[in-house]
Amino acid sequence: MRVMEKSRQLQVRAAGLLPGGVDSPVRAFRAVGGDPPFVKRAEGAYLWDVDGNKYLDFFGSWGPMILGHAFEPVVEAIKEAVGRGASFGASHADEANLAELVTRCFPSVQRLRFVSSGTEACMSAIRLARGFTGRKFVIKFEGCYHGHADALLVKAGSGIATLGIPGSAGVPEETAMHTLALPYNDLSAVETAFALHPGQIACVIVEPVVGNAGTIIPAEGYLAGLRRITQEHGALLILDEVMTGFRLSLGGAQELYDVKPDLTTLGKIIGGGLPCGAFGGRADVMEFLAPLGPVYQAGTLSGNPLAMAAGIATVGHLIANEAAVYSQLEHVTKAVAEGVVEIAAAAGVRLTMNRVGSMFTWFFTDQPVRNFADAATSDSAAFGNFHRGMMEAGVWLPPSQYEAAFIGTAHGEVEVEMALAAARKVF
Ligand code: PMP
Repeated sequence: MRVMEKSRQLQVRAAGLLPGGVDSPVRAFRAVGGDPPFVKRAEGAYLWDVDGNKYLDFFGSWGPMILGHAFEPVVEAIKEAVGRGASFGASHADEANLAELVTRCFPSVQRLRFVSSGTEACMSAIRLARGFTGRKFVIKFEGCYHGHADALLVKAGSGIATLGIPGSAGVPEETAMHTLALPYNDLSAVETAFALHPGQIACVIVEPVVGNAGTIIPAEGYLAGLRRITQEHGALLILDEVMTGFRLSLGGAQELYDVKPDLTTLGKIIGGGLPCGAFGGRADVMEFLAPLGPVYQAGTLSGNPLAMAAGIATVGHLIANEAAVYSQLEHVTKAVAEGVVEIAAAAGVRLTMNRVGSMFTWFFTDQPVRNFADAATSDSAAFGNFHRGMMEAGVWLPPSQYEAAFIGTAHGEVEVEMALAAARKVF
């Protein structure tokens, strides 16, 4: 058994100060049980807790750490930037420098604005879509999570699904009544919604590959279908690439599946581990934003110099090493994701594994998982046992069935073997 004494003490202390002892619900390990380790430091593919336990990291801070922890060029860029001041509240050259890198990766993004989180990016994109179209309704999909803005906490995935709550208290019905939550991978549901609300739907927002219900892959033609239907009805298509952007390919899911959205939201990798998000897209839409247009959006720390520096170092590295990075991620992730399925099968446990590039989920169900209802057939008790076993064996997986696991460039053959050895022990 791991020694967890110091983490336990810190959890008791934190619980008297922060609700649940955490700043984000899933960190409390409620769904899987066991003590949440308190992290002391992280480097490459590993995390160390305050009791000295070492973990192989398969959640990468929920996505941002694609280059591994404390990656030297990112650390140096942040150090260099902080010496010049942590925040200006005024324009500086690195905003355009990072924006240029982003537009190079995402040709659909003609203009963008930086914010401090994925939540802000999605919330702002929705307001902009409503302002631009003059319409009220928003279509989202069950199990997709677009941050915790009021209008988007309807049948959301991630922590909402993990804790089994249908939405959130504190969101007035009047705020959520214009959000239509439809099943993912079902174009006829989208057609029906547009037929029921003619001329009233501002936008469709979607995780092009779902991560927040566990990983779910878009069916052949699904994203192209959303593009066609939104175009036919004069609604905007927003791809939420907070998770998939720079991860599935340099140009995210829109490059991989060849679909051109009106707006894109970004987060996680774009800030290299510092608080940063962005939303962007068609110039005519983006120019509806203040100070050019009537849609208001702002931020004291938006375009923060440290976040820009970390983003430039991270995205710059991905651009300069594109072929090597994405082929390594594919190769290593495939070996881990498929290897564990084989080990489970040998032990008589049937898993359904969904994977696109370096994001994947092992569902404890033998059914195909194509939408949230399928994901919910997973045996959450079995997942909890597996999770606690893997933690004990030194492998840190995302502590919920409704989250994707991530691999980064610091993971290699050694880490594959470690993960498979741990899984053999646990199964
Ligand atoms: N959209 C997606 C697809 C996400 O995965 C997340 C976070 N997991 C968000 C939005 C919200 O981002 P943040 O936590 O940075 O507010």
